[in-house]
Amino acid sequence: MKSNEIRAKFLNFFQSKEHKIVPSAPLVLKDDPTLMFSNSGMTQFKDYFLGYQTPVANRIADTQKCLRVSGKHNDLDDVGKDTYHHTMFEMLGNWSFGDYFKKEAIEWSWELLTKEFGISKDNIYVTIFEGDKSENLERDQEAYDFWKEHISEDRILNGNKDDNFWEMGEQGPCGPCSEIHIDIRSDQEKAEVDGKSLVNMDHPQVIEIWNLVFMEFNRKANGSLEKLPQQHVDTGMGFERLCMVLQGKTSNYDTDVFTDLIAELESISNKKYGSSQPIDMAIRVVVDHVRAVAFAIADGQLPSNNGAGYVIRRILRRAISYGYRNLGMNEPFIHKLIPVLAKQMGEAFPELPIQQKLINDVIFEEERSFLRTIEQGLVRLDNLISNSEGKVLSGAAVFELYDTFGFPPDLSRIIAEEKGFSIDEKGYEEEMAKQKKRSQKASATATSDWVVVDANASESFVGYDRTDGEVNITRYRKVENNKGEFYQIVLDQTPFYAESGGQIGDSGFLIAGDEKVEVLDTKKENNLIIHITKDLPEVKEGLTAKVNVKRRNDIMKNHSATHLLHQALRTVLGEHVQQKGSFVGPDYLRFDFSHFSKLTEEELKQVNDFVNNKIKEHLDLIEDRAMAFNDAIDAGAIALFGEKYGDVVRMIKFGDSVELCGGTHVVNTSDIYLFQIVSESSSAAGIRRIEAITGDKALAYFKNFEQQFRQVEDKLGKPKDVLASLEKLQNENDALKKEIENYKLQEAKNQKQVWKNQVQTYGDVNAILVETSMDNALIKDLVFQLKAEIDNLFIVVANSFQDKPTISVGMSDNVVKDKSWNAGNLVREWAKEIKGGGGGQPVFATAGGKDVNGLSKVLELAKELLD
Ligand code: ATP
Ligand code: MG
Repeated sequence: MKSNEIRAKFLNFFQSKEHKIVPSAPLVLKDDPTLMFSNSGMTQFKDYFLGYQTPVANRIADTQKCLRVSGKHNDLDDVGKDTYHHTMFEMLGNWSFGDYFKKEAIEWSWELLTKEFGISKDNIYVTIFEGDKSENLERDQEAYDFWKEHISEDRILNGNKDDNFWEMGEQGPCGPCSEIHIDIRSDQEKAEVDGKSLVNMDHPQVIEIWNLVFMEFNRKANGSLEKLPQQHVDTGMGFERLCMVLQGKTSNYDTDVFTDLIAELESISNKKYGSSQPIDMAIRVVVDHVRAVAFAIADGQLPSNNGAGYVIRRILRRAISYGYRNLGMNEPFIHKLIPVLAKQMGEAFPELPIQQKLINDVIFEEERSFLRTIEQGLVRLDNLISNSEGKVLSGAAVFELYDTFGFPPDLSRIIAEEKGFSIDEKGYEEEMAKQKKRSQKASATATSDWVVVDANASESFVGYDRTDGEVNITRYRKVENNKGEFYQIVLDQTPFYAESGGQIGDSGFLIAGDEKVEVLDTKKENNLIIHITKDLPEVKEGLTAKVNVKRRNDIMKNHSATHLLHQALRTVLGEHVQQKGSFVGPDYLRFDFSHFSKLTEEELKQVNDFVNNKIKEHLDLIEDRAMAFNDAIDAGAIALFGEKYGDVVRMIKFGDSVELCGGTHVVNTSDIYLFQIVSESSSAAGIRRIEAITGDKALAYFKNFEQQFRQVEDKLGKPKDVLASLEKLQNENDALKKEIENYKLQEAKNQKQVWKNQVQTYGDVNAILVETSMDNALIKDLVFQLKAEIDNLFIVVANSFQDKPTISVGMSDNVVKDKSWNAGNLVREWAKEIKGGGGGQPVFATAGGKDVNGLSKVLELAKELLD
């Protein structure tokens, strides 16, 4: 069965069990401070499990793009070494939110695997939670009893808390789980070693494919567990592992998910998969990592120097360095796999083929620059090796190569070894640990449990319609981070807009009588709107919430202008333009978009004019807060890659500009008043960035220009035609410069004649020794002219110009030869007299110094030499 069929069959099966099929959420998370990437199927449903939102359905199934490269789940180091862990993989899952529980979850998993997919039950083992004394948790007898209706009891194994109690994070929903393991070894191997003994023992052919989690507890900040009001099911099955089992393979990389990629890489690199351990590992690393990186870019996460972008950059660099080392690839090559990947995955994930060019360009550029880093690092490493006293390289130096210059430590190790050196690993680890500590300290936060004021309250945003109102606090908690102690407050009906979709969060006040608490910022965490304050209001009910209205209005202008800018870019540059990030604040807006070259002056002007024309057209805001997603798309709205949309969306329209957007907007484009682009630049390979201002800021921008212009006018004496007056001034200046040049040339000519008259002969040497004061730039020229006119010349010019002494020494070639004199050596010696230094060629050399009084001594020395 082909992988695409396997995926479809899973989804169809759960659809037949009345599950709603939803799309995969983006790989990159936006409003979860504890997590950068989706790392399991349940990530996108966290707000349901936390009770912040009501589920769109109580039975859901999907395939979710997951990435396990950081934080609690980090498989990066195993990827490529083994055959069944990936960085990015698909997790097939089915969920029950307060609906069915253990019985159905177990029954359906069994039915799907054994009946639909035909896996022999003799190859299946399952595990259940054995209980845990320290947590006061019983063995999961319920799960055991349901399993034994399907599978013989000797195949139901006990598992400990590590394997069989699943937790979302330090805090939050959790519960016992039941794993399904498949034994895909040969009959002979099975006869020799009982499969039971290999379950959860890291055996590559007795592996876990599916985990059924039964959420029934909440882990509190103090570590204790409390029962959840409702019970949920959360399951996750590794798609690539399932394909391996169903396609009768013993490695994920032998399934059709990977074979085309491997074949392409074999032909690019001229290396065969299966030929040696290092080559195989490198091939697995590359075909795995290219998926992770391509999907991340498609979801809007470009490689960068911090946060999620840095994680992506490191994944790509790991692939590049394996290619460099084990496959001999010292030219960019990974981007060449993108067409195959886009074809392979395009059906299930159309974001890949649609953005193929961007993905290709970004990866190519990263490859090129990292290969350059490697080349430069090799030089630095060579220096390190040749400057090392013993045969051990300093750990700190190798760490610096990695940390500052991005040079992979593995590469340092290998090259050092080749040259008979080793690395002080302990020193390296110490530096690494120090750095980890630093970054942990910077990001450490302590979050207390929620204090729930009103358990039955619901929370909603009313800020589209008003910017103040009476509110009640429904819950709050204390948070401590490196910036201090804060409160996070949740309100029942908040007018405060929480940062999202590029728009910055609102600030303002919560007021009760004399008490006035400032709201510093408003953010979303797992879809809950959180108001950040320094203090906790005494009063919890009937407060007045007041958004900073002036600030909000400025933000709205910029947000609406962003939509118009998007439309302008697609109109002027073409439909390939896709939004790749934006920032909308009170002072300015920033818009990143895919486009392949710098915008010309003319294009920028057209874009700028387009937006200002839309402002002049007085277009009314047409807002539909609850539109079916498909209807909005039919109406011309563009869904952005990397955004998560529900079935019901909000549509914002100004004329022909149609967007899916949750932000706040002006009611008519004329409110924006004025739009002005202030910069256009590159933000990454294939991505341009425009920054612009609107309203009062744009007005102030032009005011400032006017003021400067007035000042220029004043300086010029208020001429009628400023430009003509300026040009006249420039022309006069040019003419004066020319005149000075001429004077200088004339002076040099005169000088030459004066010097010529001073020639004295010493034997067959014609010597000129002069003290003068002139522009240094002229001296060299004069010396060479004289050399051409006088044979056997030896000339020393002791110059003091603007209180700076210089010496110039020149001589004919045959003087150098006959006398064995060297102008370079002579100035170096004589420069001491003027407290300076210099050098040059045997026939001409100069020196500068600090002491003009030494110049006459220099001439004396020259005379001594001639005598
Ligand atoms: P393992 O012990 O094999 O690392 P896990 O316990 O980390 O698995 P879960 O967190 O329970 O796995 O995830 C559910 C399923 O997702 C697993 O049963 C497995 O099939 C799959 N899976 C987990 N991690 C990976 C990975 N890195 N690559 C591919 N599939 C994975
Ligand atoms: Mg794991």
